[in-house]
Amino acid sequence: MTDRIMNIQTLGILGSGQLGRMLAIAASEMGISTHIYAPDAAGSPAGEVASTTTTASYDDEAALRRFGEQVDAVISEFENMPASSMAILAEYCDVAPGKTALYVAQNRLREKQLARQLGIRTAEFHAISSAEELAAAMAGLNGGQAILKTAEMGYDGKGQVRLPSELSADQIWDELGCAEAILEHFVEFTSEISVLVWRTPAGQSGCFPVSQNHHRNGILSQTIAPAPDVDEQIAQAARNAALALADATELTGVMAMEAFVTSDGEVLFNELAPRPHNSFHWTIEGCLTSQFAQAVRVICGWAAGDVTPTGTYVMDNLLGEDMDRLESLRQDGGGKLHLYGKNEARQGRKMGHYTYRRG
Ligand code: AMP
Repeated sequence: MTDRIMNIQTLGILGSGQLGRMLAIAASEMGISTHIYAPDAAGSPAGEVASTTTTASYDDEAALRRFGEQVDAVISEFENMPASSMAILAEYCDVAPGKTALYVAQNRLREKQLARQLGIRTAEFHAISSAEELAAAMAGLNGGQAILKTAEMGYDGKGQVRLPSELSADQIWDELGCAEAILEHFVEFTSEISVLVWRTPAGQSGCFPVSQNHHRNGILSQTIAPAPDVDEQIAQAARNAALALADATELTGVMAMEAFVTSDGEVLFNELAPRPHNSFHWTIEGCLTSQFAQAVRVICGWAAGDVTPTGTYVMDNLLGEDMDRLESLRQDGGGKLHLYGKNEARQGRKMGHYTYRRG
């Protein structure tokens, strides 16, 4: 018998959280080793299940270059990686999500402006870069509701202020403490949805079934998928928007697009996350190829996998404040409990999730 040389690869993952952990688990099922790079890599949710870890800061050029030499492909589990660090790694191998997708998704104004250029509708918005501009925009609202968001670094409802507010424009601007913000008119949506799109380095793309999401305090609380209250025409419009954004940003890997659906069936783009997304954790049980497996396949040169859903699934996020559900979920064999290996349960911290089949 001839010895076969296996094409063993090592996938580098930037980030140490639960997305990195689930990427590493998916990679290991495919015979691909993983190397976690993060300032807190050792013993982290991702580091705990990976083959190797590097503990270094994201702007340590020497450490990034050593990491680049040791891996065959790289996926970032979060969008706030410095673009210059991604550029260094791109000298060594394919990197996900790729520089344009990262650049666009790092800034709420850039992503909404791009969506508009592509003919994708958004809530009405204004760019704000001073307390004076904020005061003028607030006056223009005439008491209407709006949300002021930092253009960069906000996530899970952080860096957001609901308007009208008791506070003055000066006070709000001070509190936000950023150089650039976006004021968005409030959308009276009937549902919130998300689409997960993948795109290969050669430009082939596709989408997972649309998820329908419920948020609590700006944090995802529950996903039901495929979206039960969204008709096919709306789902198709949302998928087309995500595919157009993936092409326009030259995405490599996977990217989530969050959107609102209005009562007249309009899809309004909200934001991008160029990585696996919380609202697609259900695909671990619900599709032959999960979002994590797809992200690994795409960046490691495998063909995109089948994402046909095998039923309707519900995913409940388990935050720090939901830990009193743990014991009963452990005793419930009908669904699947995922825990991320985090020891400290804090309010709003994502500790795990629970997926079960609804139909
Ligand atoms: P975001 O960080 O933009 O995803 O916002 C977190 C959550 O706040 C969203 O999932 C919505 O539930 C809500 N939200 C954000 N922007 C708007 C908006 N313009 N109109 C209504 N609700 C919004």
